[in-house]
Order: sequence, then C-alpha cells, then structure tokens
Amino acid sequence: MSHETRSADLHLHTYFSDGTYAPHELVAEAKRQELDVLALTDHDTVEGCPPTAAACQAAGIEFIAGTELTAEQDGHEIHILGYALDLANPRFLREIGKFQSVRQNRIREMVHRLNQLNVPLQEEEVFALANCRAPGRPHVARALVQAGLVSSLDEAFERFLKKNRPAWVPKFKMSAADATELIHQSGGVAVMAHPGLNRSDEVIPAMVDGGLDGIECFHTKHSAAMSEHYLQIAARFQLLITGGSDCHGLSKGRPLIGSVRLPYEHVEKLKAKAAERRAAAIRHFST
Ligand code: AMP
Ligand code: ZN
Ligand code: FE
Ligand code: FE
Repeated sequence: MSHETRSADLHLHTYFSDGTYAPHELVAEAKRQELDVLALTDHDTVEGCPPTAAACQAAGIEFIAGTELTAEQDGHEIHILGYALDLANPRFLREIGKFQSVRQNRIREMVHRLNQLNVPLQEEEVFALANCRAPGRPHVARALVQAGLVSSLDEAFERFLKKNRPAWVPKFKMSAADATELIHQSGGVAVMAHPGLNRSDEVIPAMVDGGLDGIECFHTKHSAAMSEHYLQIAARFQLLITGGSDCHGLSKGRPLIGSVRLPYEHVEKLKAKAAERRAAAIRHFST
C-alpha cells in the first residue's frame, strides 16, 4: 500500500481493561479493516501491549504501546492517552499499579452500594467476569446482566452506574499535569482523549502549559464539525493530531475498530515527538 493511504486507529481497548477482545482478536479485526498501525490504550494498564505487539508483528501491522489515564483539570474529568511508553519503566508501572488497586476497591464499593439497594450482586461475580487488573463500571454492568438483575447494559448504567446514580462511586483522579508528567518520564507523549465528549475546551490552555503534546481530533463520537474545531485548536496550540475509534470490542454494540482512520503523516509526527520525549526522559534519568 502506498505511503499516503496508510492509516491508523490509535484508541483501542482489549479485555486487559474493559474491552472484550483478546489481543489476537483485536489484531485480526485490524487486519480485516486493512489498518496499517494500531495503538492499544487500555485503561490504567499496559499488560495487553506485549501480546498485541506480537500479534501485530505476525500480521504486518505497526504497533504503538499506549494507555488511557483518568485525570482531572479544574473539576473536569479528562482522559489522557499516553503513547510510545517504555513498558519497563518502574515508576510508571508502580503508579498504574496504584490506579489498578483503586479500580478494584471501587468495584467493591459499587457492589456494596448495590447490595444496600437490595441488588444481590457479589463482588466475586464481577471480578470473575472482569478477570483483569483494571476493572471498571462496564464489568459491573455486564455482571448485572449476567446475573439477570438488569436486562441490558444501558439499564445498568441508567439505573445504577451513571454519574450521580445510586451505585456510582467517584474515581480517584490525578491532576492532568501529573498524568502528563508520568507519561513523559516514561518516554511517552501525552494526548487529550475525545475532547468533544465533555466539551471542556476551557481547560486546554492549562493542559498545554502542563506539557500536553497532542489532542484526539478524530473520534467515533466526534461530528465532522467537532473534528474541524479541534483541528483548529491543534493548530493554534501546535499540538499533535491523533484519532481513534475507542473500540471496546463487542461491549458497546458493533465493533468500532477502523471507523476512525488517522492518516499516517500524523503517526510520523507522533513518533518524532516520542523520540524527543524518550531522549529527554533518558537525559533526565541519567543526570
Ligand atoms: P470507569 O472507568 O469504571 O468509570 O468506566 C468508564 C467506562 O464506562 C468507559 O469505557 C465508558 O465508555 C463506559 N460507560 C460510561 N457510561 C456508559 C453508559 N451510559 N453506557 C455504557 N457504557 C458506559
Ligand atoms: Zn473503556
Ligand atoms: Fe475515555
Ligand atoms: Fe477509551
């Protein structure tokens, strides 16, 4: 395939967090969609990266290691994507290990609240179903469906799990600047995920001051006008442009992988920035 037509999906989840695909299933779908590059961005873990990298290599797909962190800026929940991370960075692994514990405790608290509402879900049911270190609300929703306590994932969120519903538990969030710094010290680049989902544009200048490298202009839930709006913001603040489907496998209806296709020129810019960040992280570490 010629250089110009190569395309990437840089926002994907597997069953190592709240997606449903195994790494080899994700890569098989990417191949079917004729994607040339994929980035795995599971929530608060990079455990899925080595097996996904191996499957990509076998399939002739370029792989970028990533994660999606939950952060906070001026009261807004902001998701920050980290790309081209050093998967062996001790501090990074230690910190995301803490976020994983927080997620596990939050599951226990959500189940406790459900029990107080006379919904007899057991935490073991959620953990067995999630079977990963970074469980989240979608796992609670699936466990509720599986136990016959609600009839759909939507019902689980609407009745219990959405923000301010009775079994919702707020999640600890680090500051956006801390998330960005954690990604940088791991040699990666930090990108604001799906800015159009929360429409909190006013936080962008502060995040740029905090070292933000890029912004996810293309996302399944962005309209064409929204993407254009964020492309203009990227130009104004000299940010990298990224895009991805945010596919969670079959957990949210039809698989979205490949529905967002980022032109390869943006992958090249991201890799150039990552090389700078990696060099800076090594310089910082060795002085
Ligand atoms: P958590 O990280 O545990 O707060 O869970 C966030 C995940 O839940 C994200 O993948 C969301 O896309 C998903 N989610 C949030 N709200 C809903 C909803 N109303 N229906 C289905 N999934 C949702
Ligand atoms: Zn998710
Ligand atoms: Fe997100
Ligand atoms: Fe995501």
